[in-house]
Amino acid sequence: MEVALLEIIAAIKAGRCRGCGEDGKPLDAAWLDKLVRRRNRAMHDGARSVAKKRLLPYYLRCKAEDPTRWESWGVDAACEEQLVRLLKAKPRRTASGVATITVITKPHPCSSDCLYCPNDVRMPKSYLADEPACQRAERNYFDPYLQVTSRLRALTDMGHVTDKVELIVLGGTWSDYPQDYQVWFVAELFRALNDAGDQAGDAPAPREGAAPRAAAHAADGPASAATCDSARHDAAARAAFYASCGLACDADELARLTRAEQKRVTAGERTYNQAVRALYAADAWERAARIQHASLAELEREHARNEGAAHRVVGLVIETRPDLITPESLTVMRRLGCTKVQMGIQSLDESILRANRRNVTPARIAQAFSLLRLFGFKIHVHFMVNLLGASPVGDVADYRRLVTDERFLPDEVKLYPCCLVESAQLTERYAAGAWAPYPEDALVDVLVRDVLATPAYTRISRMIRDISSGDIVAGNKKTNLRQLVEARVDERSRAEGRPVREIRQREIATGAVELDALRLDCVTYATSVAQERFLQWVTPEGRIAGFLRLSLPRFDAPCLTPEERAQFPVPVREAMIREVHVYGRVARLHAAGEGAQHAGLGRRLVEEACAQAQAAGYVAVNVISSVGTRRYYRALGFLDCGLYQRRPLA
Ligand code: SF4
Repeated sequence: MEVALLEIIAAIKAGRCRGCGEDGKPLDAAWLDKLVRRRNRAMHDGARSVAKKRLLPYYLRCKAEDPTRWESWGVDAACEEQLVRLLKAKPRRTASGVATITVITKPHPCSSDCLYCPNDVRMPKSYLADEPACQRAERNYFDPYLQVTSRLRALTDMGHVTDKVELIVLGGTWSDYPQDYQVWFVAELFRALNDAGDQAGDAPAPREGAAPRAAAHAADGPASAATCDSARHDAAARAAFYASCGLACDADELARLTRAEQKRVTAGERTYNQAVRALYAADAWERAARIQHASLAELEREHARNEGAAHRVVGLVIETRPDLITPESLTVMRRLGCTKVQMGIQSLDESILRANRRNVTPARIAQAFSLLRLFGFKIHVHFMVNLLGASPVGDVADYRRLVTDERFLPDEVKLYPCCLVESAQLTERYAAGAWAPYPEDALVDVLVRDVLATPAYTRISRMIRDISSGDIVAGNKKTNLRQLVEARVDERSRAEGRPVREIRQREIATGAVELDALRLDCVTYATSVAQERFLQWVTPEGRIAGFLRLSLPRFDAPCLTPEERAQFPVPVREAMIREVHVYGRVARLHAAGEGAQHAGLGRRLVEEACAQAQAAGYVAVNVISSVGTRRYYRALGFLDCGLYQRRPLA
């Protein structure tokens, strides 16, 4: 490994001024692949072969643990920067400006029973044990502290900057979990980031599977006060605590333990909820649950710590259903620090919702949109094509309604084709011939039309779920579905002279930005409860370098009940900034970056939003800031004010 690394370092040093190696070839991923292949061919020993993804962890470990050896390599700051960039795995992971950490809640009954929803009893409803985030959750006993700790280490090993983190909490329906558990779960997410220390690892996060440093506590007996207390303060002791409770974290063992229940659920003899209640009411889980509660005061302490932490939370995402969105539930989410809600709506066609056992009406979905908007949340929806009862033509019309009807208009969409997994109840309909997946061409055509209909202020974040092809009985198995769709979108957009407006296809991602060429553009659109202004920095080619979502609420909107009006979190004639996002390669919080960040683009967006709100007659602007961005907004003149930060408009 060291020999390969030294060869790379030498090449960087030789060609640094040209950004090329000594042979004049660019030092890029192709060059690196070639070097690794050449070295491995020369070794004739599989055990000692070089793995590309191991090079950066090896480098960082040597730097931290063997400084004498590291110094002998003569790597200065400029050389290191180039080295990290070259060796970084999956650069797109942090291309949108933040490092994302997805965590999964523990298995728990869901208050709905949708026909297409997977019933994997090892997981919270709708998730499958072999999805990457689910595997990580299982290895970590579904514990939030342990999940964050292991993910943070993995991202750091891959060379990603993790000082700005978006936390995505997935698993069944969040609102179905007891509030005690919700508060504990989120407090632990923050605590893990607060405890993790800086990028160089001055308080290194324990590795997954590390030997427990506080094994003695486990000897006190499961869930004793001492054990619980230690478990709260030490990841290694936490893992030991779960083991002492009798919980397993090995995938094969868990498959064995749940096999009988899974068979009964898949055969339709038992529901997911019944099986989960039986499996997780066992002593081991009950003992483990004794530490799974926290007070709001504890949560707020972790929030306060995070304001100045090395890994700050710049977004917290929670997923739930529209029928569970109320002023009360949104107030709780806001207290947790939530900034974005993922809401499963799947369809706006009443008959399709009914056929798929979605117990919600389009009117209730519209009400959820209004409440989310007035509370300032970013609205991220899940929408499915090819549900039971759907047709390609109907799906296109349904999506069109989502993105043009002023009662809806989401900020982000996960646009999935329905796939059949064995444990879902849709299996019976498939066997009876009542449901079948669309042929690939028809599916791609629906998605192409949807992308082309998507407005400039909406981002399609995904087009497939992370379900492995082995789990899919029927439906799309192509992991590159999005590329197929985008290729056809480009073709059609060129042929019809119609530019693609959807955000993800326009964002600059890892690209460099010519700041002077950027233009500030404003897209105005009406929703049933607010006028929205989407302020965007765009390049001459129409690429997007940053944006802000400003809501100018209409508190007299006829769709609101007097009770809802009484519970609004901000007064009449006050505006709301729902999101500020600047793209570009992630730069450290206090360092100058090469991308669009740290060039004042965010600040200028905020100033423009305040000016527009004032001109429209609003007396103050609120921002749904995340805990880790509070200091930033204070510096821009915002004051902490209840669930938000607020700037009066003089
Ligand atoms: S609400 Fe979500 S998690 Fe619950 S059954 Fe329906 S799709 Fe699955």
